Amino acid sequence: MLTDYHLHLRPDDYDASTAAHHTQANAERYRTVAGERGIAELGVSEHIYRFTQALDIWRHPFWERYAHDDLDEYCAFVRERTDLRLGIEADFVPGAENRIANMLDARPFDYVVGSVHFLREGALDMDDYSVWDSGRSVDQIWRRYFQTIGESAASGLFDVLAHPDLVKYWSPAARRRPDGDLRRYYELAIDGIARSGIAVEVSTAGLRKPAGEIYPAPAFLAMCLEAGAPVALSSDAHRPEDVGADYERALEMLAELGVGELCVFERRRRSLEPIGASAISAPSGEHEGASAPAAER
Ligand SMILES: [Zn+2]
Ligand SMILES: [Zn+2]
Repeated sequence: MLTDYHLHLRPDDYDASTAAHHTQANAERYRTVAGERGIAELGVSEHIYRFTQALDIWRHPFWERYAHDDLDEYCAFVRERTDLRLGIEADFVPGAENRIANMLDARPFDYVVGSVHFLREGALDMDDYSVWDSGRSVDQIWRRYFQTIGESAASGLFDVLAHPDLVKYWSPAARRRPDGDLRRYYELAIDGIARSGIAVEVSTAGLRKPAGEIYPAPAFLAMCLEAGAPVALSSDAHRPEDVGADYERALEMLAELGVGELCVFERRRRSLEPIGASAISAPSGEHEGASAPAAER
């Protein structure tokens, strides 16, 4: 059984509206591509900052700019008009744990994907508000990032730790990556991951980003597995043609590390299903000619 739980029904463009993308027809497009690629379990996890209710959690200017939609309308749409599991991608905002918990617990999610896109006000993976322009060193940013995802896991707010080494988002040529064995940074997150029992996401999105690598690095995933974490597999697609993108590479990595099961979620209860021998039927190059989305995070 293959899964793709970290999906967005629209690009991250400012003007990508729910009216245009939260439709049955669009959800069916994602389902169709998933079917072609042998993926049975599908769920949608829109960014929490797209919803006005998120401003009760945090008032970062980026969130204030994007918060237009109603969270309960989204939940009702997914539940009533689609056959997708209902998830959400929620940022970990240190200090706002209770407000995040209240928002999540009041709604019928099947799972919550927990992300760290910001260190305090500074963005890791976009040019606006960039943490890389904050005067902090690469070493400081990497340390702080892995400490923060350890805290996000330990918070118990989330079912899945999203794109676990997002800090590597930029191209190696951008010199935003420390030298040497990176396990000295990964180590900072492991205690929180081990104590919480959170699932660790293997995401092919990194292959579509300047980094050009799966999240997380094999050495980090090996440490998470050692700590007892199960794996959730996703593409973080923001358009139908990216559902299950490059899964053959992710499955190869999982096989090399001895992972034979994936997490399945329902109403925030987790079970494990064998990956099995199911092959991906569509080759990864199928949509090579398509243009890259303008922005997706
Ligand atoms: Zn996402
Ligand atoms: Zn994300």
